[in-house]
Amino acid sequence: MSVAEILVLGSVNRDLIVHAPRLPLPGETLRGQRFGSCLGGKGANQAVASARLGAKVALAARVGLLENGAAMVEQLKGEGVDTRAIAQPADEVPGVALIVVGAEDAENQIVTVAGSNGTLPLAQVEALELAGLRWLVAQQELPLESIARAFERAHAAGVKTLLNAAPYRPGCESLLPRVDLLVVNALEAQALVTTLGGGAAEPEALAQTLRAKGPSAVLVSLGAEGLCWVDAQGTRRVPARRVKAVDTVGAGDTLVGALVTALAEGQAIENALSFAQAAAAIAVSRAGVQDAMPHRDEVEQLLK
Ligand code: ADP
Repeated sequence: MSVAEILVLGSVNRDLIVHAPRLPLPGETLRGQRFGSCLGGKGANQAVASARLGAKVALAARVGLLENGAAMVEQLKGEGVDTRAIAQPADEVPGVALIVVGAEDAENQIVTVAGSNGTLPLAQVEALELAGLRWLVAQQELPLESIARAFERAHAAGVKTLLNAAPYRPGCESLLPRVDLLVVNALEAQALVTTLGGGAAEPEALAQTLRAKGPSAVLVSLGAEGLCWVDAQGTRRVPARRVKAVDTVGAGDTLVGALVTALAEGQAIENALSFAQAAAAIAVSRAGVQDAMPHRDEVEQLLK
């Protein structure tokens, strides 16, 4: 297997999804209409998004082998993700997300259990092979101290760091000095700025405030409105592609996976942002999360 250029350090979950006529009340049992299970977790999602777009990507994660965790790792391998840095403890349960979707997808209820994601030890981070990498990518479903140490090691090795500060967690602001590129949605940007003592503000101002804390660039994603990008050259808004949205869950994961793929290839920012938004637009126009993520040729077709 060739050497990866992108290493994603992140979570792997099994998503268990039931569709019901509505959400249950406390203590109530409802008859659901459909059940499905699929591979999820922000780390797995972003690694798969990059792999589908042709990146050489590895995933560093922890997937317990109880409850059929081995099949989750096999599925990642089948997507072309380098899984050699995935620890597979025999006596742990993988992460799980239990999702109830109410009628017409109008509402949902989610409970996640970190499982083996929550026990990723510092020793695993110390052992990560960083030679030859261009980018290290992390989200916030793992212990924050593991992410902090990985970013510290990446910088010492000349590898750029991308933090997708999602889901927002108190204390994550301490990671900012070690981040080259911060990617957040508008809610996460506001939560971070509030923690830092700032007030409510427009995305551009939020991004500028966050950039002053360390990252050389900040991307605030704005759903159907696109995104706002701030770097040393200034601030810009890039509108989203107009598509009929079918399922926007996982849009941010596709955006991150596509953006880092384009940046690792050396694409200019302008092009990398268009590429990422094209990939995210395709993903939101289809049902599912990983199921909806596009392959390279589909994105190139849209960009023609
Ligand atoms: P998150 O999933 O992290 O909350 P957003 O909702 O901001 O992230 O979406 C991430 C990106 O996905 C946006 O910047 C945009 O490019 C794309 N996107 C999201 N929703 C739509 C939509 N309805 N139409 C077109 N593109 C969308």
